[in-house]
This record gives sequence, C-alpha cells and structure tokens, in this order.
Amino acid sequence: MIHANELVHGVFWDQPENPRAALRVQDAAGGFRDVELDAGTRLGFRISVPGKHCLGHHRVHGPAERDHIPCPRNAHAERGNQCGPCFAADDSRLIHDFHRGGRVPPGLRAYLMQPHWLYVASFAHGATKVGTASALRKWHRLAEQGAVAARYIARADDGRIVRLLEDLVTRDAGLPQQIRSAAKAAGLADPRPAAEIDARNAEEAQRARALLSVAGGDGYEVVDEPWTRPALADLACGHSPRHPYPHPLAADAHGFTIRSLSGGIALAGLMDNGPEFVVNLGDLKGRLLETGEHHSDVPAVQESLF
Ligand SMILES: [Zn+2]
Repeated sequence: MIHANELVHGVFWDQPENPRAALRVQDAAGGFRDVELDAGTRLGFRISVPGKHCLGHHRVHGPAERDHIPCPRNAHAERGNQCGPCFAADDSRLIHDFHRGGRVPPGLRAYLMQPHWLYVASFAHGATKVGTASALRKWHRLAEQGAVAARYIARADDGRIVRLLEDLVTRDAGLPQQIRSAAKAAGLADPRPAAEIDARNAEEAQRARALLSVAGGDGYEVVDEPWTRPALADLACGHSPRHPYPHPLAADAHGFTIRSLSGGIALAGLMDNGPEFVVNLGDLKGRLLETGEHHSDVPAVQESLF
C-alpha cells in the first residue's frame, strides 16, 4: 500500500514491559500513523518533497495530557523542527527556563510539578551525559535517546528541582546535557565494547551521586537504579561488522530491512545476507515521504577491509 506525502515526526518507543518502537508519520489530513519498527521490518520510502517541514507545536495540559497541533501553514522548518510561529506557540520551549524562575502556563506547571528522575546515560562511542525524565517517561526517554547503558541517580519531587540537580552535575562533574544524534550514529558505526561502556557509565554515575549526596537541599533522594535497554537495541550496541549508511536520507529513494534499533538509529540490511549499515532514522524528522516498495542503491563494500 502506498502512502503519499506523509510527514515524519520521529521514532518513538513505548511499553517498557514489552518494548515497541515506531516511526510516527502524519498524513495530509492531519491523522497520525505508526509504522512499527521491529527486527525484520522492511522500510521503503522516497522523499517526495524536498526540505524540512514544520512539525507543529504542543500544548501541555498536565502530567499526561497534551495536544499536538499540526502546523496550520504546512510551513518549512526554520527553527529546529518548527516554523517561527509554531516555535513561538510551543509550551515545551518554556521548560528550560522554569527552574531559573521563568513563568509557565498552568498546564505546563502541572506537568513540571510531577516527580522527575535524573539519569546518567552513555552512548556507543563512550560519551556520557546527564539528563532528566518525567515520572511517566522514565523509561521511554532513555529508549528514545539510544543509550547503551544508563542509570538513574536521583528522584526529585518536581521538574524544577531535577533541573537544578542536572545543572549541578554538569557544572561540577563536567557531564554535558546533550549529545548530538550524528555523534551517536557515528558511535554506533564503530561501537566500543558494551562492557566497557557499562563500566564507564557506572563510574560516572557514582561520581555524580557523590556530588548529589553532599549538595544539600530538599526535595530529592539519591538512588542507584539501572535502566533496562530494550532487546531490539542489543545487536546495534554489539560488535557485529557494519558500515555507515552511505546515502543522505534528505533525498531520493531508500529501502532496507531493520535488524536492530537503538533510539532512532537502525542497524539495517539492504539485501538478504548482505552487509549491515547504520542508518540514522532521526534524519527523517520533518521530511515528507511516500512509503512503498523502494530500494537503496547498494554500495560496493569490501567486507575484508573491516
Ligand atoms: Zn509551523
């Protein structure tokens, strides 16, 4: 079945008990559809309109309630994944100033006042970051980030306290709050051994916990709790031979079979029993595509060189 001109919103993970991942797309009428991404899923598509398109904005009404309002202008994206007016209307841009005293609407305040978790996550090239997740997104957030290993290090009463703790860990332990998706994809193309990543994560988490233990202040407790990586990510985080996917996803036709998925980055084969490639499906965010029986050009790769 052919779906024409669908707008990609990204890769989403759900259900910590029985993890599932999907590419979420929106049709021209504004309806959403999830394309399940599992081991063996064949994904074929063609970029149907060039450029990056606005993903609309969110209105937050409470801890679990939010509306996603598609872009009324079907505009090009100018600021990240949004046009100027959708960026200005988006509640979530206010999240990052809340702990510095910024004003927020009541629905967003209710969302931010729920308990939050502080975590330390490590990626395939060994880079490690500190981050936050709301109680309801505790597991999902790390699945979508594509962590190889991660630990929760504190539970905070609300989203203001957790961001103060996050800033403290960045300042005193030197852990960044963001790692670029392109760096994660490059890491997965040449991953460090998973045991080494886990050991580094344990060490950084312990260092950050030690800081939090002596920081003083109320409203949080230090914890030591591992995050469970979805089994679908195991192969991507492992040591099998692979190559960076050689074609930009911004144009042309592509088709591959998903073998494994870490966050939004897939390990995929272009043909049966052929070599595997690291494809950053995050690059499809904001693209308009037509799904169907499409194929990637198969590059000449010499396995013996790797
Ligand atoms: Zn817009």
